Amino acid sequence: MKTIQQVNFENKKALIRVDFNVPLDENFQVTDTTRIEAAKPSIIKVLEDGGSVILMSHLGRPKGVEEKFSLKHIVSKVTEIIGVQVKFVSDCVGEEVEEAAKSLQNGEVLLLENLRFHPEEKKGDVAFAEKLASLADIYINDAFGTAHRAHASTAIIAQFFPNNKYFGFLLAKEIESIDKVLNNSEKPVTAILGGAKVSSKIGVIENILDKVDHIIVGGGMTFTFVKALGGKIGNSLCEDDKLQLALDILEKAKAKNVQIHLPVDAVIADAFSNDANTQEVDTNEIPDGWMGLDTGSKTAELFAEVIAQSKTILWNGPLGVFELDNFAKGTIELGNSIAEATKNGAFSLVGGGDSVAAVKKFGFQDKVSYVSTGGGAMLEMLEGRTLPGIQAILD
Ligand code: AMP
Repeated sequence: MKTIQQVNFENKKALIRVDFNVPLDENFQVTDTTRIEAAKPSIIKVLEDGGSVILMSHLGRPKGVEEKFSLKHIVSKVTEIIGVQVKFVSDCVGEEVEEAAKSLQNGEVLLLENLRFHPEEKKGDVAFAEKLASLADIYINDAFGTAHRAHASTAIIAQFFPNNKYFGFLLAKEIESIDKVLNNSEKPVTAILGGAKVSSKIGVIENILDKVDHIIVGGGMTFTFVKALGGKIGNSLCEDDKLQLALDILEKAKAKNVQIHLPVDAVIADAFSNDANTQEVDTNEIPDGWMGLDTGSKTAELFAEVIAQSKTILWNGPLGVFELDNFAKGTIELGNSIAEATKNGAFSLVGGGDSVAAVKKFGFQDKVSYVSTGGGAMLEMLEGRTLPGIQAILD
């Protein structure tokens, strides 16, 4: 892999596409610094080699220039985390930016204004990419969260650095982790797929059927499978147009010798609320007026057994409505099982927006092998697609 490990940045200006799309509170304070910390090793490598760093990122979904999406809000936090005073320019292209880039000294860091203040960024405009490219000697992509987008700064720009484009440490680590699960895995491999809907995970399921030994299904999509198999699911979430698809998946899995594990019991509620009445019943015996919002205790035991035997574990999507305390238990117990297996030597990768939120909420981030920083990007890789941001470095 073309990583920055093999490059000496002495006297070089490195333009790094980072993912500083961080959450801000109403006072514009960064409430989760994970993404900034994740980009730190690549930045430090360039500085320690004796080079300088130009950071570019998007923040939010601005329509044109919108003050609240300015990256100026995060300058002090980035400064604090990197340990170097970060300079800031109020645009990402143009004369002022060119001046700031030109006068940047070795050891210094410059942060450009939000790339998405220019519509050309998302359009993948070549001329805009060329202007960005003119600022530096070397291009580094370290933004996994946007690697599935063919934007100017994530993919199009790479053509202007035919011999000077590299994966940053973070992006390299993301690629390696997914490769370790899909292609270089120690068996048995178990994928846990939860979350709300089958429809958003079909591509993943179809791709991983050739690569895993077990698939654990949880979350809202459970009930599409259960109903397809003839069970009573009450008012649980269900995609009625995906019933046949669920049966097809079960059939394909059988043919490929992949064991699919469905929850056998559920915590059901008479309303989508933490104050609702609840009870535990078999997944296929849910009365009308009730909905399954979490996996039950028999299911936790069953899943724990599968996970304890696994050497490679992929977790995408919560097992229940973990945002509500009364329906978080299944997800917490699953996290405990994965943590235990990891302690015993398994490799565990967690990814996808909501599972990462769950992992953080319940404190599992240091108990699994790797937590991905990309939601959509990870899903697309699990679907077997080559991401434009990755391809652009490889070309
Ligand atoms: P996804 O973005 O597809 O991974 O879905 C994550 C969301 O699925 C979370 O917000 C959960 O609250 C929700 N979820 C998990 N289990 C259920 C369930 N049984 N019924 C409804 N929503 C669920």
